Amino acid sequence: MPSIETYNSNAENQWCPGCPNFGILQAVKKAFVDLDKKPDQICLVSGIGQAAKLPHYLRCNLFNGLHGRAIPVASGIQVANPNLTTLVVTGDGDCYGEGGNHFIHAIRRNPNITVMVHNNEIYALTKGQASPTTPLGEKRSLQVKGVDIEPLNMPMIAITNNCTFVARGFARKIDHLKTILVEAVKHPGLSYVDVIQPCITWGTRPVAWYEERVQELGEDHDSGDKKAALEKALITDDTIPIGILYRTEPRSAFAHRYRSEVTEGPLAEMPAMEADQLKDILSRYIP
Ligand code: SF4
Repeated sequence: MPSIETYNSNAENQWCPGCPNFGILQAVKKAFVDLDKKPDQICLVSGIGQAAKLPHYLRCNLFNGLHGRAIPVASGIQVANPNLTTLVVTGDGDCYGEGGNHFIHAIRRNPNITVMVHNNEIYALTKGQASPTTPLGEKRSLQVKGVDIEPLNMPMIAITNNCTFVARGFARKIDHLKTILVEAVKHPGLSYVDVIQPCITWGTRPVAWYEERVQELGEDHDSGDKKAALEKALITDDTIPIGILYRTEPRSAFAHRYRSEVTEGPLAEMPAMEADQLKDILSRYIP
């Protein structure tokens, strides 16, 4: 049985002391303990940003690539090796900005991955410029007169487009977030968790502002009721509902469809290629 220490990595942490990202890292480790996952059964995939550093701080398989491109990589990993628990760790800028197109089409394709978004409503790594979730009117270093376009409400977009697992967590409620992540990983198909993660260096609202507003969904919330889920996803001001907003019957996952149409089985389960076969393939591309 793994423990929290099982996932400790030797990488030096570069986050600001006190950043709520530490709470998310702890929640991820706790979720993997609960799920009884060994490091070699996990693959974390990320792009660029403060969130994208999380896989460095957790001992497991990882792929850290281009800005906004974690989702297609994770989808490919899941096709090649469905035995891996594949989790995309991304931020609001990375996922909703650069990677917005990938995210929307991943909802349609439905790969069996979990997408966890550290949402601090800015680009924190590059010093606080507006991201797709920065509130209307907020002044930022590049938006000196205030953001003049509406923020994206991605949980709402995901629910309306039939993502079958949509949740919102809060970085300072570690055990609550852990419980959401456990359920998200167990859910077959795309599971999506938006995590409120206030940036204590470049953010304009203190952590206490969020602490006063987040409200765990009660047992009276029916996560199978799409209309109720949408109503909760739309609330983002006086109260911010957290928990599993929407969860419904899984639908056909991308890897299953892809493999049945294109290949005989997962790449990871195929016999290793003979050296001569590999040489033959390479010779077609390398003169
Ligand atoms: S800049 Fe903000 S998000 Fe990045 S590590 Fe510091 S507090 Fe956290």
